[in-house]
Amino acid sequence: MDGLVCQTCGATYDLDEPRWRCDCGGVLDVEFTPTLNIARIAGRAPTLWRYREAIPIRNEASIVSFNEGFTPLVELQLGARSVLIKQDNLFPSGSFKDRGATVLISKAKEAGIARVVEDSSGNAGCAVAAYCARAGIDCEVFVPADTAQAKLAQIQLYGATLRRVPGSREDTARAAWAAAERAYYASHVWNPFFFQGTKTFAYEVWEQLGWKAPDTVVVPVGHGTLLLGAYIGFRDLLQTGHIRRLPRLVGVQAAASAPLYEAFVQGSDEALPITKRPTIAEGIAIAEPVRGRQILRAVRETGGLILAVDEAEIEQALLMTCREGLYIEPTSAAAIAGLRRYLQQARPDEIIVSVLTGHGLKATEKLLHLTGD
Ligand SMILES: *Cc1c(COP(=O)(O)O)cnc(C)c1O
Ligand SMILES: [Zn+2]
Repeated sequence: MDGLVCQTCGATYDLDEPRWRCDCGGVLDVEFTPTLNIARIAGRAPTLWRYREAIPIRNEASIVSFNEGFTPLVELQLGARSVLIKQDNLFPSGSFKDRGATVLISKAKEAGIARVVEDSSGNAGCAVAAYCARAGIDCEVFVPADTAQAKLAQIQLYGATLRRVPGSREDTARAAWAAAERAYYASHVWNPFFFQGTKTFAYEVWEQLGWKAPDTVVVPVGHGTLLLGAYIGFRDLLQTGHIRRLPRLVGVQAAASAPLYEAFVQGSDEALPITKRPTIAEGIAIAEPVRGRQILRAVRETGGLILAVDEAEIEQALLMTCREGLYIEPTSAAAIAGLRRYLQQARPDEIIVSVLTGHGLKATEKLLHLTGD
């Protein structure tokens, strides 16, 4: 049965109820049976909406889109190895968060929502603000006060109201919760419709590999919207008989903020408390991942792992990737650093896919010190 299902107590709610968490406080997932018809998909325009029947939006008129997605999958040579990299830095607002925002804001439009609030370390705020602008929905975005300037400008220029919150990313979330009493909470972390968008990452990889799953997928992980999206997407493909097993999911954290890595190596079911240190990978500097349990379960179920990379490795990976002509922000470089680590243990014939999550132009002021000037 289609619905919203609490991951803590199992309570279910109607799919159309505009709620972002269970009455018990637990996170919700969307339960929905996707249809994936290869012939129909292949004949459509190259956007993520080519998987239309796998996305739980009822009416075409509700769809808020810039024809985004179906991002290029390019080969990258790393030493002796060749890996495949998905260029999600090329989305309209400059990060993969548009995958989630196009579906989440379509759902908000379908529900007749006039105002949304969101909190973000930057890119999710940009994505939600862009799609709200397109939909004519009022948008208020809470960000930590130290977020990159370019992202703040982007959020404001899309017409959203920006609220800069002093303190931690967690303080920002608390400020947004208070505002969510008065408006729809379009949280990329809590709202389960966001994950019905990020799951298209898996569908695209499957299609671009000739309707096959890779062996391994390496993604950065903070709150896990891409990692869990990839998990949901590949699980959909498994359940509909399109692939035979789930790819190994490898999540990469910055060592300076690695609650999931700590949990993974210590065998814990949930994220462990950490003392956060500064990192240039601002997009994954998440001390308290809301869906930590789900992330750890997904990684373990697929035989994957969580890696932590230090600041020097992130900088090296950033420079190396840029010198290949791929311009990315530091958070994205963490995944490439993790990929380099993972390659040391990978089998020679393994098909490995990773991703560039955000565009370098979003973080110019954080890149200037690497130019050597
Ligand atoms: C949001 C973001 C991430 C991490 O995504 P999570 O959903 O927090 O795991 C990685 N890279 C970039 C560029 C991001 O904006
Ligand atoms: Zn519950």
